[in-house]
Amino acid sequence: MTIPEFQNTALEAIPGIASNVRGAFRTHKTKTLQWRQTQLRKLYWAMEDYQPQILDALKKDLHKSDFEALFTEIDWIKKDCLFMLDHLENFMKDDKLGSPYVPATHSFMKFRVQKDPVGTVLIIGPYNFPIQLTLAPLVGAISAGCTAVIKPSELTPACAMVMKELIESRLDTSAIAVVNGGIPETTALLNEKWDKIFFTGSAAVGTIVAKKAAETLTPVVLELGGKNPAFITKNANLALAAKRLLWGKTMNAGQICLSHNYILIDKDIVPTFITHLNQAYKDMFPNGAKASPDLGRIVNQRHFQRIKKMLDNTNGKIVMGGAMDESENYIEPTAVLVDSVDDSMMQEESFGPVFSIYPVNSLDEALNVANLVHRTPLSLFTFGSKAENKRILNEMTSGGATINDAFFHASLNTVPFGGVGDSGWGAYRGKASFDAFTHFRTVSETPSWAEKLIAIRYMPFDLSKLKL
Ligand code: NAD
Repeated sequence: MTIPEFQNTALEAIPGIASNVRGAFRTHKTKTLQWRQTQLRKLYWAMEDYQPQILDALKKDLHKSDFEALFTEIDWIKKDCLFMLDHLENFMKDDKLGSPYVPATHSFMKFRVQKDPVGTVLIIGPYNFPIQLTLAPLVGAISAGCTAVIKPSELTPACAMVMKELIESRLDTSAIAVVNGGIPETTALLNEKWDKIFFTGSAAVGTIVAKKAAETLTPVVLELGGKNPAFITKNANLALAAKRLLWGKTMNAGQICLSHNYILIDKDIVPTFITHLNQAYKDMFPNGAKASPDLGRIVNQRHFQRIKKMLDNTNGKIVMGGAMDESENYIEPTAVLVDSVDDSMMQEESFGPVFSIYPVNSLDEALNVANLVHRTPLSLFTFGSKAENKRILNEMTSGGATINDAFFHASLNTVPFGGVGDSGWGAYRGKASFDAFTHFRTVSETPSWAEKLIAIRYMPFDLSKLKL
């Protein structure tokens, strides 16, 4: 099966698409356990059946290796579906409330928290994990009983078209729709009324989405980026830190919101660390990174030029890599030794296989620099003693954190994932995906026979009867 040529959804069709999925929500069919389970099973099998096209599309769009594509995209979504299928019935159950939430004064009443779908949602995806980061929120929306429109990234057109075909051929298209396109199509979608918007992408576009959503008081989940620090102290295993951090910048060619932007390292161990870094590079790429079939490419010329500019503008010294080939959007995994927070390599999110190394005199200085560069990054990584790691986590916030590795805290699809402050609002994955699209509705029931028990609440009040 060949992948169809990318086609924008017609702008004039978008209000109708939004209206259809809203209508489907009002039929209440998506609220049943059976509808949700059926869609999840169908999505699971679609991932299985469309695997060749997805692999092909990821290769076309990002030069993504089959290893990464299977591991981080296809298998990820299949596992998401299976996790939800295993737990959905339980997640959907009302929470019946008793003590300590319901005090003795209210014990004659029934209180419960009902799990209602929020309604009709819009999911906007990014390009770097185009399948995972678009379909994983959809798994959450389906599980919660919502209807949804997904808008994949136009920067990965082959993936966008495969997702469209896969969803339209397998899922309930009255309730789940795909809109393809770029800014005009996304703007048209944002002009519609949604019950929730789930956005993954840059902080700049996240701001546009949040502003637009605010006009209609539409709640949003924002999964954004950030300038993530790694801390290395004298107590770290330097060879291991070098190998693991290099891994974090080679996967998906460093186009990962979670990967480190810069390393804060004790100045005395910088030369040894750089030696280990170059050794790790040689071990990973014995014939050079460019010849490796495993290393992806930068998604397009615009992003290639953006990363090139960071390297062109740096006042630092390249201590690993540095090569580029514009003809194939290739950027070699590159480390730059810098000495200023104003350096281009410290100021921007690299979102590519390049990172800076910033020597510091102490952990105090490292924490000061990190808090100055970005106070609320999406992630941080610590390579130090137990006490140092604990101190870093205590004195610097982040969406998530990994001790002694690159972004492994995000390697599970069953635990909450999200940013903090300006790296994101809200979380998903595992039960958090169900929760992200669920309204927790407290419901109480007052028995008719309880009039005497509640008589005190009626006017005229009698203060002497109030026992607080
Ligand atoms: P992006 O913000 O450029 O695009 C994301 C989506 O927004 C796309 O679907 C795009 O079509 C749409 N869009 C772009 N410009 C728009 C506009 N002006 N108005 C309305 N919609 C618009 O992001 P990207 O380049 O695809 O992804 C890279 C960014 O995403 C990085 O900053 C990265 O850190 C972040 N990211 C975050 C996570 C996370 O989970 N926190 C995951 C992946 C990527």
